[in-house]
Amino acid sequence: MNHYQEFAAAQLQKLIPIQDEFKKQYKIDSYSNWFYDSDSEILRLYNDETDEVFFKYIPIGTFSLTSKTWMWSWFNKYLSEKNKFETLKIKKFGKINHYTKLYEGAFQSDEYDGWEFLAISFDIFNGIGAYNVKTENIDFYLLLTEKIESNMNPEIKLLKQKTLECGSHGFQRPAFVCQHLNLENPIGFEEAMETHKGMELNENEDLQAWCNECEKVRVQYGEWNEESEKFAKIKLICENCYFEMKELNNA
Ligand SMILES: [Zn+2]
Ligand SMILES: [Zn+2]
Repeated sequence: MNHYQEFAAAQLQKLIPIQDEFKKQYKIDSYSNWFYDSDSEILRLYNDETDEVFFKYIPIGTFSLTSKTWMWSWFNKYLSEKNKFETLKIKKFGKINHYTKLYEGAFQSDEYDGWEFLAISFDIFNGIGAYNVKTENIDFYLLLTEKIESNMNPEIKLLKQKTLECGSHGFQRPAFVCQHLNLENPIGFEEAMETHKGMELNENEDLQAWCNECEKVRVQYGEWNEESEKFAKIKLICENCYFEMKELNNA
């Protein structure tokens, strides 16, 4: 083991019990949805409007599952969080200690590096916990620095109005589709209710759609239950993407 590996391993060992305690305290695993807002640098974990928790975060870096590359946030020109440059402190620390992985902007990596980097960041920024946002191709490593206490917080009100940031469409209302629906192949489009783009949604209404295969499974169980939901593995997309999928399937 070289110095870095020893150091990183020790930092990770230190983080593990703290992270466990953090997850317990805020019931992190009980939330099935996440949303982060790069303007306010706030992560929202939630099940619904009343069951939710908010944290301030620093984006530490990303791991691309396709290219197996780690990228520090200070090096990532696509990240719009202003506080991404905080991670230059990690770079500086790496330079001083000759820890190459901490100061090179991007490099070949694996899933384990990311948690070590979080552990190192945890000390540098005085974190309270960490969160790994997993999307299809990218793991996004966030260091959480503060829990936001009040629902009346103006930043949170703003964030709720936007609710979802889509890579192609910007901030949009969220919609829910099964894991199979996509923008390339028509595979059926079953909806929970009749919808049209831009329609008003009541508090208890959501845009929800699933494919023909999911519909078969749903009918087989007679309802949405644990089994049929496991098959559908509902994902969150933006309203625009939703109606693009609908159009593709109805063409
Ligand atoms: Zn499906
Ligand atoms: Zn979209």
